[in-house]
Amino acid sequence: MLTNKVVLITGAASGIGRAVALTCAREGASVLVSDRDDAGLQETAALVRAVGNEALAVTADVGNAADCQHLVERCCAHFGRLDVAVNNAGIAGPSARTADYPLDGWAQVIQVNLSGVFYGMKYQIEAMLRTGGGSIVNVASILGAVGFASAPAYAAAKHGVVGLTQTAALEYSAEGVRVNAVGPGFIRTPMIQTLDADRAVHDMLVSAHPIGRLGESEEVAELVVWLASSRASFVTGAYYPVDGGYLAR
Ligand code: NAP
Repeated sequence: MLTNKVVLITGAASGIGRAVALTCAREGASVLVSDRDDAGLQETAALVRAVGNEALAVTADVGNAADCQHLVERCCAHFGRLDVAVNNAGIAGPSARTADYPLDGWAQVIQVNLSGVFYGMKYQIEAMLRTGGGSIVNVASILGAVGFASAPAYAAAKHGVVGLTQTAALEYSAEGVRVNAVGPGFIRTPMIQTLDADRAVHDMLVSAHPIGRLGESEEVAELVVWLASSRASFVTGAYYPVDGGYLAR
């Protein structure tokens, strides 16, 4: 599905980002993998190379606009182009009700989960327009569509990602850049490990998904790769849940 495509993935040291990198590689892409966690990033790059594809690992903090610009520059310098970008890096942030939510936690979650996607798209779109187009997939969340008690910053940031996605799609689809968002339900990754470790919380999370279990990173990656590929050529400005039915309630 992605033969000879160049794909940039943020937050690729772990969880969903790593699964996206590996699925892209299996579908024929060369990948630039990025994360702030260099050790995990090198592991992902090695896994991609084991698939037989090229991987360039570049450490970056998506909350820093200059880092996001540098990522795109490195990608274009190394591979000559950027066809697909997956803005996936994110953090859970503190857990507290709105009135108790710490100000520094709010700023940090918005910086990484919302500004990070804006910074990424700002430079990715510019590069894609130079080569005639591309596809961007932003990793939002089910919390881009509904609220969740004690996660005000996360829910606000992910709703913002959906709005940014729709706006960029309106602006650039006619110039060949498709922009879409995915909304994972609760996925078994390090991000929810502490939540998932508590049996009662685990059972509560499972019961919120009509399918009767949490999701796997690879199940999100399948949707991301399809949206990224030309098989989704008429899909833009969309928000696709991949949530075991969470939002159907
Ligand atoms: P994960 O396993 O924690 O992976 C996220 C990766 O992003 C980590 O390697 C993390 O590094 C990195 N990262 C965090 N902040 C960064 C920054 N400022 N710059 C660069 N890299 C950064 O989490 P995941 O579950 O795969 O999450 C991936 C995306 O899916 C996130 O956007 C998340 O909000 C979204 N999502 C997850 C779930 C879920 O249930 N897991 C559900 C819906 C949406 P560190 O380890 O150093 O933080």
